[in-house]
Amino acid sequence: MLRQIHHILAFVCAVHAAAAREINFEALFGPHVSDDTEIASAGSDNFSSVLSHHWTLWKAPKFQGAIKPATEADVQKIVKLATKNNISFLATNNGHGTNTKYGITPVDLNINLRNLNSVAVDGKKNTVTIGGGTVLGEVTEKIYAAGKELPTGNAVCVGMVGLTIGGGVGVQTGTHGLTLDALLSVRLVTWTGDVITVSKKRNADLFWAIKGAGANFGIITEATYELYDHTNHGQVLYNRYTFPASANRSIFELMATYDGDNLPAPMSYIPQIRFNRETNLPEILLLIVYFGSKEQAQPHIDKVLALKPVAATLNYGPQPPMFEFLSVGLCSTDYRNHFHVGTKRTDPATYEEIFGDMVEFYKAHPGYNGVVILQRESTRYALSRPVHESVYPWRDIGTFALMLNRWDPTTVSDADLESIADTVMGKIQKTSGFKTRHVYINYDYGTETLAEIYGAKNLNRLSKLKGEWDPHNKFGRGNPIPLLGKVKASSYGRFVENGRADDLRK
Ligand SMILES: Cc1cc2nc3c(=O)[nH]c(=O)nc-3n(C[C@H](O)[C@H](O)[C@H](O)COP(=O)(O)OP(=O)(O)OC[C@H]3O[C@@H](n4cnc5c(N)ncnc54)[C@H](O)[C@@H]3O)c2cc1C
Repeated sequence: MLRQIHHILAFVCAVHAAAAREINFEALFGPHVSDDTEIASAGSDNFSSVLSHHWTLWKAPKFQGAIKPATEADVQKIVKLATKNNISFLATNNGHGTNTKYGITPVDLNINLRNLNSVAVDGKKNTVTIGGGTVLGEVTEKIYAAGKELPTGNAVCVGMVGLTIGGGVGVQTGTHGLTLDALLSVRLVTWTGDVITVSKKRNADLFWAIKGAGANFGIITEATYELYDHTNHGQVLYNRYTFPASANRSIFELMATYDGDNLPAPMSYIPQIRFNRETNLPEILLLIVYFGSKEQAQPHIDKVLALKPVAATLNYGPQPPMFEFLSVGLCSTDYRNHFHVGTKRTDPATYEEIFGDMVEFYKAHPGYNGVVILQRESTRYALSRPVHESVYPWRDIGTFALMLNRWDPTTVSDADLESIADTVMGKIQKTSGFKTRHVYINYDYGTETLAEIYGAKNLNRLSKLKGEWDPHNKFGRGNPIPLLGKVKASSYGRFVENGRADDLRK
């Protein structure tokens, strides 16, 4: 009887709470923001145009309302009002966050930053300042035209600030390091609605934390980066080779020869396991990018040609079309998710085995069109940076192993996907060269421990900064940093005050 009363009371409270959370966003925010700021409640006609884009139809975040600020001052007012009225919010740019928690935890308000979209190159200072709502493709085009370059990621659709504050890994990682290595300063709206500058000189501790855990501390309205002169006069080689399934082992053996420091800094070696639904055959694509002359790349191209590709697309030219080329198949929106683990060692036998696992899965699931991508970048530059400059913990990852799933949800289930991902990622982890999992935060799935994301040694310092800058946990919904002293054992892993973090699932 008592239990029944408890249930009835809980139900009444929930209904009451849900009703109480019905917020009139237009009435609350409208009078305080500029005329160009768009506001919509879920269900209204313009909701989808105010709401941020999201990269996948699978588990997309759900919001009661969306707001698209036009200026930094609008962002300040929105944060202030949301905080005052206890409205939960998530600021997004182009919605390429891979963390599934975004789609699981309900949030009241989406702050869509896409209108804060600007790129200003300062040729004299050798810097670029971008708005917090700019995407990668918009940045690379403009800086290239100014005779400059910046290490970014590879997909033109990804939000530039979102990418930077997690790391920023791409085909220029070998020559210039991570995107966050080029970051000079940001303007950040804090939970109180104030704007602060964060750089090496101002709020230096926070600058350390923003470079790797940046989603946890505020909304970045502007970011300034150091620029570099064009490598090889702005010309880059980017070739894609197609191989039959039989060549898979030799492609992984060639990859293993580049382990350690053996991959030239200007080069990327990126094999991709896939299934060609037209020929009904598995195949392997190999992407070679080289920021140098054709002559410099040739010895490496010769090794690839010796493996007898059956087709090739050869390119040599300016950088912007290369980014478009690298983005093919990455920037469209359908059912997708993403699994990942970092490695520093290539074990050809393991990769050959997972090639076999994938082929079985492709054959058993005609509605599945996922790929396994092994994004091998040179670690030379990243490892040469002093580690204390940023929280980013995994400069020793040489290969970012990714499983990018695409599927027809009527024929492939979430359980099928989880099962093949567990098999493939588990095998890669075992021979990765790392005892514990090294997970690049920007490629996370959402079930990793904080130690796997931020590095156990960084957790205490991060937690202290969280208490200082975001004491009410307004930011960082993907991988929230717990406040020191308020940490309990949770599914994220145990986080204890002496700085050790133990994964409870092990
Ligand atoms: C198809 C695809 C390709 C990718 N390719 C690469 C790649 O080549 N290299 C690479 O390194 N990564 C890559 N990523 C990962 C990508 O860098 C991260 O997912 C990044 O967080 C996406 O940023 P976004 O703004 O598009 O995403 P969002 O979902 O909008 O944001 C992601 C997180 O960043 C926060 N955020 C975004 N903008 C701001 C801001 N202005 N201020 C404060 N917080 C902000 C959000 O609050 C959220 O927590 C890729 C992801 C996908 C899905």
